[in-house]
Amino acid sequence: MIKVDNLSKSFGSLKVLHNISMEINKGDVVAIVGPSGSGKSTLLRCVNLLEVPTEGKVWIDGQNLTDPKTNIMHVRAKIGMVFQHFHLFPHKTALENLTYAPMKVKGLSKGEAVSTARNLLKKVGLEEKENEYPNRLSGGQKQRVAIARALAMEPEYMLFDEPTSALDPEMVKEVLDVMKSLAGSGMTMAIVTHEMGFAREVADRVCFLDGGALVEQAPPKEFFQSPRTDRAKAFLEKVL
Ligand code: ADP
Ligand code: MG
Repeated sequence: MIKVDNLSKSFGSLKVLHNISMEINKGDVVAIVGPSGSGKSTLLRCVNLLEVPTEGKVWIDGQNLTDPKTNIMHVRAKIGMVFQHFHLFPHKTALENLTYAPMKVKGLSKGEAVSTARNLLKKVGLEEKENEYPNRLSGGQKQRVAIARALAMEPEYMLFDEPTSALDPEMVKEVLDVMKSLAGSGMTMAIVTHEMGFAREVADRVCFLDGGALVEQAPPKEFFQSPRTDRAKAFLEKVL
């Protein structure tokens, strides 16, 4: 499981996360919501050490990420990350985007990597697109390739940072459907999202960040129907 313990993060004199503690257990789907600038991305990035916490600890399966003795590459290999802007390799085909890291990092043979990649492309509905380059794919297709690419490393956790925010509205659903099916398969997921309907339907828990603080943490039904704080109420009035 992922355990965030009293995490704070500052950029210079700007403190953007304040004493965050949260746990994500195996199989949990956690939606992280909150206003722009509230620290959602920074929190996710601290979980796989793309940002180094200023204070506090992050534990992944009992290993302290901030301990210098921890093998970060080893721990990070357990965590797949999907970004708002896809970050695909532009000069690789969809298939090559999926086979690159498993061959390079996990030492899979080309045959093994290709076979896994094809299965995953099929899973996200893109088996016909394996030879396309990213610039020939729609936003929704690119994001589905990005999700499949993360899954190709067989992660135990998946972190999503606003995976549908850069998409045209008609492509949001195809990506959410892939994420929903992944959640249904038991994947442990943390998802920063503005899709409140999705959070409500798919998440086990909603974490509401405001001003760098974890202000509320509750099951979706409770959070959306009866938010406890004025800050959450004000946020929900704007987005619902
Ligand atoms: P969110 O994802 O909720 O919109 P972010 O985590 O991106 O929020 O940002 C939280 C705050 O941290 C913002 O004030 C942002 O400007 C600041 N911030 C984020 N990354 C950096 C950085 N690398 N250097 C300085 N400030 C940053
Ligand atoms: Mg963000």
